[in-house]
Amino acid sequence: MNDPRSTAPPRIVVIGGGNAGLSVAGRLQRARFRDITVIEPRETHVFAPLQSHIAGGAARASEAVRRQADVIPPGVRWVRDEAFTVDAEARRVHLVSGGHLDYDQLVVCAGMRMAWESVPGLPEAMASPAGVSNYDFDLAAKASPVLRDLRGGTVVFTQPPEPASCGAAAQKPMYLACDWWRAIGVRDDIRVIFVCPDPVPFGIPAIDRELQRKLDEYGIEVRYSRELRSVDATARTLTIGHGDAEETVDYDVLHAVPPQRAPEWIAGSGLAASDDPHGFVDVDPETFQHSRYPEIWAVGDAATVATRRSGGAIRQQAKALVKNMTAALDGGAPSAKYNGYSVVPFTVSRGTVVFAEFDRQGRLQPSVPFWRSLYRERRLSWIADRRILPWVYWHLILRGRA
Ligand SMILES: Cc1cc2nc3c(=O)[nH]c(=O)nc-3n(C[C@H](O)[C@H](O)[C@H](O)COP(=O)(O)OP(=O)(O)OC[C@H]3O[C@@H](n4cnc5c(N)ncnc54)[C@H](O)[C@@H]3O)c2cc1C
Repeated sequence: MNDPRSTAPPRIVVIGGGNAGLSVAGRLQRARFRDITVIEPRETHVFAPLQSHIAGGAARASEAVRRQADVIPPGVRWVRDEAFTVDAEARRVHLVSGGHLDYDQLVVCAGMRMAWESVPGLPEAMASPAGVSNYDFDLAAKASPVLRDLRGGTVVFTQPPEPASCGAAAQKPMYLACDWWRAIGVRDDIRVIFVCPDPVPFGIPAIDRELQRKLDEYGIEVRYSRELRSVDATARTLTIGHGDAEETVDYDVLHAVPPQRAPEWIAGSGLAASDDPHGFVDVDPETFQHSRYPEIWAVGDAATVATRRSGGAIRQQAKALVKNMTAALDGGAPSAKYNGYSVVPFTVSRGTVVFAEFDRQGRLQPSVPFWRSLYRERRLSWIADRRILPWVYWHLILRGRA
């Protein structure tokens, strides 16, 4: 049988050097593929889950950042450029710099785009002193002192509808801030409103019960089944709504998470399904192989994964993708299947986490098998989320070792 890894090494190009791109590149390298190139324009790599801790005053900004050069897996080539478009017929990636890269196998891991501009007034609100967010590194750093030093007024936290990158992480700084305000005795002087896109806090009954208990405990006013529609940064008012129902709210601080979608060049390259309004790479959500181009693959936030997107989900996705690409190169069919496992670690206080792990059907999937109540609010989960996972991310996940 042909062994592509020892004879003519396939040219593998990975677009995006974030969580998914480096996890896949590291695993491919460990699987003895020799010609792997990652295209990534950024000089710094950010561990996004820590942005929630930064915004909520539970981590320093510097903890979330490494030089990209230091996290590219050994043996993997880094091209500091940006994919402009993909010519799938010619198997060529055109770069923003004007050059191009030809590939035998392409993995698209370009993440999601934060569509701030899709809510009128939101970019202006985020540029004002009262606008903060955990979904942007600089706005998360800005959120920390704003929430810490607040002593009264109205704070509105918003969560966008799916699809989003670990969308419910929008709630994390809210619980952290409420816990802080309660600790320093000003909680009763601050009105906290949470704009939630769904009729429940999350959508899995066991998790909803845990979160509802914390929402009640902190006295958070929840506007269920509502979305942020527009913001007037000068008047410090915002409109939330659903259908014809609309409400205008005055705010002193707005912690907003924007609507999200795949980068537009993916659909522009013909890699998305024509009926997908969000433009994700049209791969089989179980095998990650493209529906029309068998040499194209995708995992992570930019891929069609048919589950809630998260970094925790990428570990299993990357594993399945590398197995399936190897099988395809050996002339076989992709047989490794991803079950839709995903995770949201809700930081519900400054020392506890509700660790939601679930599959595509919304069934609980604890990472410690048979510990059915692992999801419940726990100190242990805080230690895992705040202390252990960042270490595992930098040292194992990005190297394709976990
Ligand atoms: C605030 C926040 C909190 C989160 N909290 C959690 C959490 O607690 N737990 C959890 O499991 N997950 C969490 N997530 C989700 C997790 O971070 C993402 O699912 C994960 O980062 C997705 O990885 P990715 O590689 O697909 O995308 P990214 O990590 O976003 O990487 C995409 C990369 O592609 C690059 N890129 C984009 N376009 C191009 C192009 N044209 N050419 C070349 N490169 C390109 C970008 O520069 C970027 O580096 C959170 C996300 C956010 C934003």
